[in-house]
Amino acid sequence: MILVFIEHSGPEVALWSRSVISAALEAKSAHGYRRAAGLLVGGKNAVLAAREASYYGLDQVYYIDTVQTASHPACVDAAVLRQVCLRLGVMLLLAGASSRAKSFMPRTAHMLGAGMVSEAVAFLPDGAFRRMMYAGSAYAEVEVLTKIKAATIQQSAFAAAPKLDAGCEVCCLDEACPAPLQEEIIACSSADDGRPELRDARVVVSGGRAFSNAGEFAAHVGALADCLGAAVGASRSAVDAGCAPNSAQVGQTGKVVSPDLYVALGISGAIQHLAGMHGAKTVVAVNSDPAAPVFEESDYYLVGDVCSVVPELCRELKSI
Ligand SMILES: Cc1cc2nc3c(=O)[nH]c(=O)nc-3n(C[C@H](O)[C@H](O)[C@H](O)COP(=O)(O)OP(=O)(O)OC[C@H]3O[C@@H](n4cnc5c(N)ncnc54)[C@H](O)[C@@H]3O)c2cc1C
Repeated sequence: MILVFIEHSGPEVALWSRSVISAALEAKSAHGYRRAAGLLVGGKNAVLAAREASYYGLDQVYYIDTVQTASHPACVDAAVLRQVCLRLGVMLLLAGASSRAKSFMPRTAHMLGAGMVSEAVAFLPDGAFRRMMYAGSAYAEVEVLTKIKAATIQQSAFAAAPKLDAGCEVCCLDEACPAPLQEEIIACSSADDGRPELRDARVVVSGGRAFSNAGEFAAHVGALADCLGAAVGASRSAVDAGCAPNSAQVGQTGKVVSPDLYVALGISGAIQHLAGMHGAKTVVAVNSDPAAPVFEESDYYLVGDVCSVVPELCRELKSI
């Protein structure tokens, strides 16, 4: 049986978690598993999100509402998942390549004695996995030799599972929070800027090192994002320079996005940044350097100074 860890925000299943569900369904047929089930962990919203998750083609959805998300360090996720995997006889554990899953999956795999693949992009018919390497510049085919297997999924490689008319069975599991804890989260806060969630957004406007400070970044990247109803992203250099928060970083060590439209403003196109935007359907770039590598990845590009191009673009967009 496959178990896919589904992340939710409030009562909603995260859009990119639906891509992880697609991956689980693909693994089920490619690797010959009989069932693919989902698991949601955390608080009173888990049941609501579990009901929604039941409509995306899984055979069963489990939820645990006794473990609170607010105090959710990786050691809790890992211990709870280990208990659930052993109880349900899970042979393949899957999760998205989110920061949360990147923390708990290696621990869980270790506790289960499972071999683990990071950032799988395909399930090959011979039981092997294809995974990204070197920020998407190369792919490796990996065979996992252990009985139980674990993998994080590069969600931009799979389309979000479509919603079906009928849902599957939803079951409550009564796993308790294991004690003693090695770590505890004391407080959580989210940087809510009133814009769409970066990983789920259909349109992303990202800014790079071309902007000299947070004010200039907000006045250009933020303004264009608001014209397009987009989420704001940033390169690591822009984050390091204090122009944007860490939560906005797109790339190998940031978030992976797969929007319909990705606008890169003053971003050079380093492979570590491209690794986060490979899944974008249409890429538009503005850069003052006609030889900027980002142009090779772009469907449309404009050579120019972002500080004059963006206000003009905003004016045009507002007029239509
Ligand atoms: C292990 C590792 C992990 C990394 N992870 C990430 C990651 O997750 N995400 C990420 O983004 N980076 C990551 N990086 C860093 C990455 O290698 C690059 O350094 C970074 O992406 C560069 O950001 P940038 O394009 O904004 O800056 P730069 O490379 O400095 O490029 C700035 C661009 O702006 C253009 N420009 C300047 N002024 C203007 C103007 N006025 N108008 C228009 N264009 C202008 C320039 O021509 C240039 O192309 C990582 C690096 C390592 C080693």
